[in-house]
Amino acid sequence: MTLMTDPAAELAPRILAGERRALARAITLVESGRADHRAQATALLERLASAGKQALRIGLSGTPGVGKSTFIESFGMMLVRQGLKVAVLAVDPSSARSGGSILGDKTRMERLSREPNAFIRPSPSQAQLGGVARRTREAVSLCEAAGFDVVLIETVGVGQSETLVAEMTDLFILLMAPAGGDELQGVKRGIMEMADMILVNKADGDLKPAALRTMSDYAGALRLLRKRPQDPEGFPKAVAVSALAEEGLKAAWEDMGALTAWRRENGHFDRRRAEQARHWFETEVREGLLARLQSDPEIRAQMQALGSAVAEGQTAPAAAAAEMLAALQR
Ligand code: GDP
Repeated sequence: MTLMTDPAAELAPRILAGERRALARAITLVESGRADHRAQATALLERLASAGKQALRIGLSGTPGVGKSTFIESFGMMLVRQGLKVAVLAVDPSSARSGGSILGDKTRMERLSREPNAFIRPSPSQAQLGGVARRTREAVSLCEAAGFDVVLIETVGVGQSETLVAEMTDLFILLMAPAGGDELQGVKRGIMEMADMILVNKADGDLKPAALRTMSDYAGALRLLRKRPQDPEGFPKAVAVSALAEEGLKAAWEDMGALTAWRRENGHFDRRRAEQARHWFETEVREGLLARLQSDPEIRAQMQALGSAVAEGQTAPAAAAAEMLAALQR
């Protein structure tokens, strides 16, 4: 990154004007671990927040090979053809990276990556899930400020990263493959409960009957879940799509629209965003405190000493923790 004296002042108007290069640079800034970059990123986000622009944030999860990139390419192109601006981000903690494929890889979404109204940002390799979470949240805000209508966040189907994506999106979509037998592919109940829609992909050619069967299995499983206050009748919903043949995508988008409209009318949409904002604020404070514990040599030494005292049975854990917390307040 070339030197900018005041990135917040320089980048903010360019991002608000929808300039993609400025957006890309700002995302690089929020990804940086340097303290001065962090301060600049915070100032930039603060400046942009007042513009109050909003996108529909959609989380998309699925195991490798289920067709996520094919889906994002087809679905994204459909949205672009409707005149919408689409950003694609990825949450890909490197511990969860499988088979070496990079989420949000532009070469896997060739048509979409050439669209002027689409922006694709591959996942950076960051080991720590907390860092990935912050970077993605902030990248979402930057994309919103840049005027994107839809922000898709892609992730792989492994526990923690799915929860994280669900906590920063308005809609959470599970992409599934047609099951061979009659098993439900071992989807964890918790993940099913997070889903607003299950899309069974590859409903084409020889796979179509299996996809339709799988879809009705999921529909049945979803009906057994407790009704959530944020859902109108018929949701969460399972539908069959083909990302390759571009079938069922319009209907799925209409379903997403109907669900969103209902939630907006009923106040769930804004309430969820407010809860998410509060959650991320609390997370930032907690992580900031932990970072202080680790970075301040004096505090670290005291943590070490108290830890040893606890380990050797000289002090009870609760008493040692109380002493540590009291020391932090000084
Ligand atoms: P990802 O790893 O989840 O991103 O999956 P990909 O998009 O790379 O797709 C994995 C494989 O499934 C590729 O060979 C795709 O061509 C294929 N695929 C994806 N979507 C469909 C679909 O709708 N129908 C069929 N038949 N194959 C698909």
